[in-house]
Amino acid sequence: MSKKRLVIVGNGMAPGRLLEHLFEASSDGFDVTIFNAEPRVNYDRIMLSPVLSGEKTYEDIIIHDDAWYAQHNITLHKGAKVTQIDRANKTVTTETGVTESYDKLVLATGSNPFIIPCPGHDLKGVLAYRDLDDTEAMMVAAQKGGRAIVIGGGLLGLEAAAGLKMQGMDVTVLHLMPTLMERQLDTSAGYLLEKELERRGIDIRCEANTKQILGTETVEGVELDDGTVIHADLVVMAVGIRPNMQLAQDAGLEVNRGIVTNAAMQTSDPDIYSVGECAEVGGMVYGLVAPLYQMARVAAGHLAGNTDGAFAHQETPTKLKVTGVDLYSVGDFAEGADRDDIVLRDAKAGTYKRVILQDNKIIGAVLYGATEDGAWYNEMLKSGEDIAEMRDTLIFGQAHQGGGAMDPLAAVANLADDAEICGCNGITKGQIVKVIGDKGLTSLAEVRAHTKASASCGTCTGLVEGVMALTLGDEFKLPEAEGMCGCTTHGHGYVRRMIKAKGLKSIPQVMQELEWSTPEGCAKCRPALNYYLLSDWPGEYVDDQQSRFINERIHANIQKDGTYSVVPRMFGGMTTADELRAIADVVDKYDVPSVKVTGGQRIDLLGVKKEQLIPVWKDLNDAGMVSGAAYAKGLRTVKTCVGKQWCRFGTQDSTQLGIDLERALWGSWAPAKLKLAVSGCPRNCAESTCKDIGIVCVDSGFEILYGGAAGLHIQGTTKMGTVATEKETIEYVCALTQYYRETGFYLERIYKWADRLGYDHINDLIMNDADARQGFYERFVYSQTFVQIDPWAERVAGAEAHEFAPMANIKLEAAE
Ligand SMILES: Cc1cc2nc3c(=O)[nH]c(=O)nc-3n(C[C@H](O)[C@H](O)[C@H](O)COP(=O)(O)OP(=O)(O)OC[C@H]3O[C@@H](n4cnc5c(N)ncnc54)[C@H](O)[C@@H]3O)c2cc1C
Ligand code: SF4
Ligand code: SF4
Repeated sequence: MSKKRLVIVGNGMAPGRLLEHLFEASSDGFDVTIFNAEPRVNYDRIMLSPVLSGEKTYEDIIIHDDAWYAQHNITLHKGAKVTQIDRANKTVTTETGVTESYDKLVLATGSNPFIIPCPGHDLKGVLAYRDLDDTEAMMVAAQKGGRAIVIGGGLLGLEAAAGLKMQGMDVTVLHLMPTLMERQLDTSAGYLLEKELERRGIDIRCEANTKQILGTETVEGVELDDGTVIHADLVVMAVGIRPNMQLAQDAGLEVNRGIVTNAAMQTSDPDIYSVGECAEVGGMVYGLVAPLYQMARVAAGHLAGNTDGAFAHQETPTKLKVTGVDLYSVGDFAEGADRDDIVLRDAKAGTYKRVILQDNKIIGAVLYGATEDGAWYNEMLKSGEDIAEMRDTLIFGQAHQGGGAMDPLAAVANLADDAEICGCNGITKGQIVKVIGDKGLTSLAEVRAHTKASASCGTCTGLVEGVMALTLGDEFKLPEAEGMCGCTTHGHGYVRRMIKAKGLKSIPQVMQELEWSTPEGCAKCRPALNYYLLSDWPGEYVDDQQSRFINERIHANIQKDGTYSVVPRMFGGMTTADELRAIADVVDKYDVPSVKVTGGQRIDLLGVKKEQLIPVWKDLNDAGMVSGAAYAKGLRTVKTCVGKQWCRFGTQDSTQLGIDLERALWGSWAPAKLKLAVSGCPRNCAESTCKDIGIVCVDSGFEILYGGAAGLHIQGTTKMGTVATEKETIEYVCALTQYYRETGFYLERIYKWADRLGYDHINDLIMNDADARQGFYERFVYSQTFVQIDPWAERVAGAEAHEFAPMANIKLEAAE
């Protein structure tokens, strides 16, 4: 029997969850086809704010990767917008003309962000905050700095504001109402939130009504109703969402505020279901995932033949995902004659708790600063428990019921089995305990995989761990991350993101904030942190010599007999008679035992004694030569061929381009060594196709290649693209280098970095996104202003003198 065809329009969080339930219920009931206007797989939209703030990456928030779709035989059309439903023939058609027939159809088109139709709303630089494209556009805009204006002081607006601030922009929030997040917070909590955000340097303006957005092509500012003009380089509108129901409406389905469904999530056409923010059920539309996941469960049950499930409204708590701001709000907190409330304020601690009661039952709770009792209040709100007996101690929280304070695990132990632990996914304590027992789970990752608890916004992770610790005792394994080294459980990616996101500017600060387990770090993490700080805070962070390996500290490579090798820079592999004479004089004067021409087209003086280093460098400096940085995790050489100046095959002046590239790049620190080459034609005499970055000149311009390796690992380069001029070549290569510098892990060569990030993504970003490229280039040029100083000359002038003085003769001193 052939399978039924299930077509889904939209691939957001609701249908993703629907499919999981459906496959659980019947793994081979349907042939599934999904059309998604966004060109990607299903990701956790909730977590866009941590992506914006730099605390997570897109890869971290993918819910279903390509392998998942393949494993379930799902045909996923990415970047495919459905424009028509033919209900008579049961087909859907996309804007590019792809038609697919269905037996059952699910509409999960989500919402559209509302854009205030004021003058200037369509200028370049005015963005909404809805999907990954918006988030990436904000991140790119933030790279240029300047001021962002966020219109809307609700949940999304404030998360956007905090994220942009963490990305280094000046931020102003314009909010129409007198206090922030007025739909979730009362005025007291709104006030505390406003003060906290102002303390973080965000400019908050309430009762501010936007009149128009100023600018000719690109946004330049915002004018308010009262005539105030605020300059802006970016405007983010976060003023609400509207269910996306056009497709349903055009197909003649019943719509109202959203696509109208019954409690089984069926629309007015029983073969068409609707789930997610686009659906209206029981007269309500929703904008938080917990109810959407309930819709998904009900609809999946119906599709699988279980017609018992019905959607029922439940209050959903709100939490703001701004690191360090704890707020929790649930239910109704409006004043009313039949209501009373209990309030606890601790101005010094910055906490505020308010529980709203009606007939001795909790109908709402607003918590600011101390939110650990949110789940407990919500439990009682949902169960309608009479709180008369605990009224006196209710506001102090669960830990203070029945006597003195309890330990946190006792609080978890006291929760009933049907207490909801994960609000986003509707997972109860009993469900977690059961799955641990049934499946023998011992780690958080396993519990997440089996129940989804803490897998969405993650704010309940502590509670889930508490339930696990209680159930498993000593068997509970805390999550193990692959740490950078034994001093931390955090990986390189996390540490890099946190350095930026939390504005950490010194090694002790990183170790303190990210809870290093050793006081000083070790030889693995210190050089990595030193590099990350150098790369992220040019001009502010001062290089820590003690966090460098010996070769980088001494500015020469130590050889196996304890002497050093000295390699002066020869830009583009070119030299002169004067330079050669000076090198020959140094060889004679200091009796240098070996002189060798290197693979990178320069001259290596081998066997120099440590105490000779400074005089040798001085003589070379005097002849105009600087360090070749043959020891550096940074630019080493730019190898060139003779190019069109001498070679009959040469298409461009490859030698001059190599010199210019080396002049632009020398001194730059990178995650690992960086070797370049420029060949004058595809005969490739400079071996460009196995370098970290290679240029092959062609008649039409310059091919830029990268990701080659010719050491222990051998690999040819991948082409990034072709540009027309030498100037562009330098700009694109610097932008590529800067992207590598900003996102590479310490000691990760460029080919490994590109494998991790994806060549297509890198190519697209550097070749096609002019704003991003410009940002990288400008940051590269800026950071070069601090490092293009010859370390030899500095040492000759006396810097780090202790490194070069002979060690004290301890035996002699001791004898005296
Ligand atoms: C920044 C941000 C933070 C958030 N934080 C929270 C939070 O903390 N807690 C919480 O509970 N919720 C939060 N939300 C809300 C939550 O993410 C949404 O409620 C949820 O993702 C909606 O899921 P959905 O499946 O209904 O729609 P969506 O996830 O919006 O997916 C709809 C998809 O359908 C596609 N589509 C639309 N029309 C068509 C068409 N005609 N053809 C093909 N495809 C189409 C769209 O491109 C989109 O990919 C947040 C949202 C944002 C943007
Ligand atoms: S790469 Fe081409 S231009 Fe350069 S030396 Fe070789 S043949 Fe000549
Ligand atoms: S190839 Fe090996 S032996 Fe030769 S210089 Fe490099 S590391 Fe040393």
